[in-house]
Amino acid sequence: MTAQPPVLMDGFGRRVTYLRMSVTDRCDFRCVYCMSEEMEFLPRTQILSLEEMEQTARAFVELGVTKIRITGGEPLVRRSVLQLFHALGALDGLRELALTTNGSQLPRYAEELRRAGVRRLNISLDTLDPERFRRITRTGRLEKVLYGIEAARASGFERIKLNTVAMKGRNEDEILPIVDFAMERGLDISFIEEMPLGAVDGRDRREGFMSSNEVREAIEAVHPLQPTTESTGGPSRYFRIPGSETRIGFISPHTHNFCESCNRVRLTVEGQLLLCLGQEHSKDLRAVLRGQPGDREELRQAIVDAMTLKPRGHDFDATRMDRPAVLRHMNVTGG
Ligand code: SAM
Ligand code: SF4
Repeated sequence: MTAQPPVLMDGFGRRVTYLRMSVTDRCDFRCVYCMSEEMEFLPRTQILSLEEMEQTARAFVELGVTKIRITGGEPLVRRSVLQLFHALGALDGLRELALTTNGSQLPRYAEELRRAGVRRLNISLDTLDPERFRRITRTGRLEKVLYGIEAARASGFERIKLNTVAMKGRNEDEILPIVDFAMERGLDISFIEEMPLGAVDGRDRREGFMSSNEVREAIEAVHPLQPTTESTGGPSRYFRIPGSETRIGFISPHTHNFCESCNRVRLTVEGQLLLCLGQEHSKDLRAVLRGQPGDREELRQAIVDAMTLKPRGHDFDATRMDRPAVLRHMNVTGG
C-alpha cells in the first residue's frame, strides 16, 4: 500500500491548501480603510526572520499546501524580501506563488519577482485620480503605481489582477473608468467590500460602505456581465464581459459569505497562524519555531493540530461597521 500524502483538514471537512503570509506590517502608504494615520509598527525582535518564514512555508507545503500568497503591510518594503521569493519559488510541491502589493516598488522589482517564480500579482488600485489617490493612501503617488503596473505587464506574469476597495464618496464614480483601465490592459479586477478590521481614525466605515451588488449594477449599466464558475482559489466570484479578456471579481464578505468553501489560513508577521480573517482563533507558531529550533516534525505537528481551531466562519455585519469585528488592522492580519 502506498502512503497517502499528508493533508491539512479542519473540523468541518474543509481541506486547507492555501497559505497567505504577511512578511511585514510596515507600509509606505497609510490607506484610510487599512491603517490609522499614526501607526506603531512591531519591533524587529517580534517579527519572524525571512529564514523562519521559509521554514514555515516549507512545512505547509510538506503538508499539502499548493498555493502561497505573500502579503503585508507592503511586502516589497521588507529588506531583502526577494531572497524569500527565490526560496519559495524553488519549493517542490508549491504550484503557485503569488503576491499582493500596492505596486509602488514594482518598477524596481517586477522582473526579479517573475524570475523568482511569482506567477500571479494582485495590485491595489482604488482610483485613477492623483489627488484622490493621495487622499486615500495619505502618502502614496499614483504615478509610481501606474509605472509599477506597466513594469509588471512588461515582465510576463501569467495574470495580473487589480484590487479595488469600493467606497461611497471616495471612488464610487470611478468604477467604470477603472474597469475600462483594466480592460484596455487585459488585467483582471476584483472589487472588495470594506471590512471592519482594526480601528481607523477620521471616518465612519458605515458611511463609505458600498456593497458588491451596487458595484455590479454600476458596471452592468454599461457592460453585460456573464457569471463564470472560474476560480483563482480565492474568495472572488467571477464574471466575464463578452469579447474581453478581463474577469471581474467581487469579494463580498458581507453580502456573499464565502466561508463554506474556505481553503486558506494566514500567517502574521509575528508568526501567529490565523485560522479565519474575521475571528481571533490562532496558534503561536513563533513559539514553536523559537522553542524547538530546527525541529521540522514539531512544527508540522503544531500546524496539523491548529486546524481543529478553524471556526466555521466570520460574522461581519455591514450595519456594525462603526466598530471593528477584530482589533487587528489589515496590515497586521495580512490582506
Ligand atoms: N500592501 C498591499 C496592498 O495594498 O495590496 C498588500 C496588503 S493589503 C492589506 C491587501 C489588500 O487588502 C489590499 O487590496 C487592500 O485594498 C485590502 N484592504 C486593506 N484593508 C481593508 C479593509 N478594511 N477592508 C477590505 N479590504 C482591505
Ligand atoms: Fe499599505 Fe496595503 Fe494597507 Fe494600503 S492596503 S496601507 S498599501 S498595507
